[in-house]
Amino acid sequence: MSNRIYNFAAGPSAMPLPVLEEAAREMTNWKGRGLSILEMSHRSKDFVGIYKETVEMLRDLYKIDDDYEVMFLQGGGHLQFAMVPLNFSSEGAGNYAINGVWSKKAFLEAQRLGKAEIAIQTENRAPRDEEIRLSKDASYFYYCSNETVNGIRYPSIPKVGVKLISDMSSDFLSQPVPINKFGLIFAGAQKNFGPAGLTVVIARKELLGKPLDKTPTMLNYETYAKSESMYNTPPTFAIYMSNLVCHWLIKEGGVEEMQRRSIAKSSHLYKVIDESEGFYINKIQKDSRSRMNVVFNLKNEALNEVFLDGAKAKNIGNIKGHRIVGGMRASIYNAVTMEAVETLAEYMKQFAADHS
Ligand SMILES: *Cc1c(COP(=O)(O)O)cnc(C)c1O
Repeated sequence: MSNRIYNFAAGPSAMPLPVLEEAAREMTNWKGRGLSILEMSHRSKDFVGIYKETVEMLRDLYKIDDDYEVMFLQGGGHLQFAMVPLNFSSEGAGNYAINGVWSKKAFLEAQRLGKAEIAIQTENRAPRDEEIRLSKDASYFYYCSNETVNGIRYPSIPKVGVKLISDMSSDFLSQPVPINKFGLIFAGAQKNFGPAGLTVVIARKELLGKPLDKTPTMLNYETYAKSESMYNTPPTFAIYMSNLVCHWLIKEGGVEEMQRRSIAKSSHLYKVIDESEGFYINKIQKDSRSRMNVVFNLKNEALNEVFLDGAKAKNIGNIKGHRIVGGMRASIYNAVTMEAVETLAEYMKQFAADHS
């Protein structure tokens, strides 16, 4: 497999190689049943087994208790931007922290569909608890734990007196999370959990069942809670791939080990940036720097194309920043190895030395 690149893609992103290899082995004939997962009924005993095992593994990884529902949906993070206000603004306003592209988009959608307020807005950092101003009729507080485009993470979980809702699309399964502090968390799978097409939602059961009147059946969380996510055909192949990712993650040491690795990998890259004497720039306040998406600019933006071409020659792929913010971004999710990170770090040092 030496022809594979070091893949720093932001999403869909690198998958663990053993997972891809196992899926390839099982592609045409799953466990000797004579058919592919792709060809199997979602209501078959085999597939329901995969589905249930995946839920159980997530429950084990995050120590999720029975007060919470674990659901598999479609529509990505974007559909959650709509489902959250549809399901939780019947009793008051959604209060949003905006500190990047994704939390802003979520707020704008909530404003369209229900009542939504901005509780705090910050740039280049996560807000501090004492800056957050909830409206009197606050129903929930919403934040994005890791802003994928901007490279900003919350160093701690905000303490507010209302239901806490978080978009964890890009740091899902990268660290332990005390789920019982949350009303709901969601994550599009394609960053750190599996393929595009699957969204996982973990919600406190007692909060479900009070959507706005107009809420379509498929946008009501209760529909999924009551049907074990099988009201309609779920994204079966994506669930199967995420099942393999969970097995891999447990074998590798779980979320504690992923946290340890993500600290090691991200520190390595930030060190190169900080020691480059301004050749590389990261504008994020240090305590809010993402451990998943390391964003940086070259001081001399005229070198961007040369930098990207040189990276490509070293098998380093997908480090161009998001089109909205420009610059560079190295996404270092669970499946990105330390070897890949070291290769990038060495390249960055050499490039800076060659062009200073
Ligand atoms: C990628 C991403 C999204 C958007 O996800 P889609 O699945 O494309 O809708 C939302 N929030 C965060 C934090 C993301 O990283």
